[in-house]
Amino acid sequence: MRVKVLGTRGEVEPSSPYHAKHSGVLVDSEVLLDLGEREFLDLNPRVVFITHLHPDHAFFVNEPAEVSVPLYGPEGFGKNPAVNIRVLEGAVDFGAYRVTPIPTHHSLRVKSQAYLLQKGAERILYTGDMVWIDKEYHPLLNGLDLVVTEGSFDRRGGRVNRDAKTGKVYGHTGVPNLVRLFKDFTGNILITHFGTWFYEDPRGAVRKLQELGRENGVNVIAACDGLEIDLVKGMGSPSVINCPTPDCPCL
Ligand SMILES: [Zn+2]
Ligand SMILES: [Zn+2]
Repeated sequence: MRVKVLGTRGEVEPSSPYHAKHSGVLVDSEVLLDLGEREFLDLNPRVVFITHLHPDHAFFVNEPAEVSVPLYGPEGFGKNPAVNIRVLEGAVDFGAYRVTPIPTHHSLRVKSQAYLLQKGAERILYTGDMVWIDKEYHPLLNGLDLVVTEGSFDRRGGRVNRDAKTGKVYGHTGVPNLVRLFKDFTGNILITHFGTWFYEDPRGAVRKLQELGRENGVNVIAACDGLEIDLVKGMGSPSVINCPTPDCPCL
């Protein structure tokens, strides 16, 4: 599979030329994971999977829109009849791909799910925003070629709250926690959806992520808008990583 990162910015104001657009990852020019910007539709994906209904992952939440491509997500969207989300509760086959939703903990107000994308023997996990994935789903994660997850917070623990009434946790865990969680399931972790910490010093932030990878014996890659990864099964690490902009700090 060829993984192209379309946007790397979380729901934050700061921006950089290489990390400006909201979340989106395009696989093989066909399958789009998250729709943080309207312009991603101009790339004509055949199908879109949304992790949750926050505007940095689903631009249409706060904007007038019409989406004609098949759109799947964890819950329906009643606000706009021109945006029809099909609720995905189990695995679906789409051309050469099998897409399996995996529930995540992230928000009290909206439902959220990660997507396991399989094509032949290749397997990718795309998480969107998250605090945690319940243990019962961990067996699904064995032998992933790549995990694409979020970088809202670089500090351990991130920003996680607990609802006093229900005891449910919500927010974003930290990148160190995500690396610790996913290193047992993959050798390659691509971090996207950056928070303000990243924009203070993008070059330093990239080094910090790479160092975190070394400490954990896993390849941690900092994404940028436009970064492409070609996965080749059995290579252990992605065989080709392409950044479109020569002076981008990502590699
Ligand atoms: Zn987000
Ligand atoms: Zn969110």
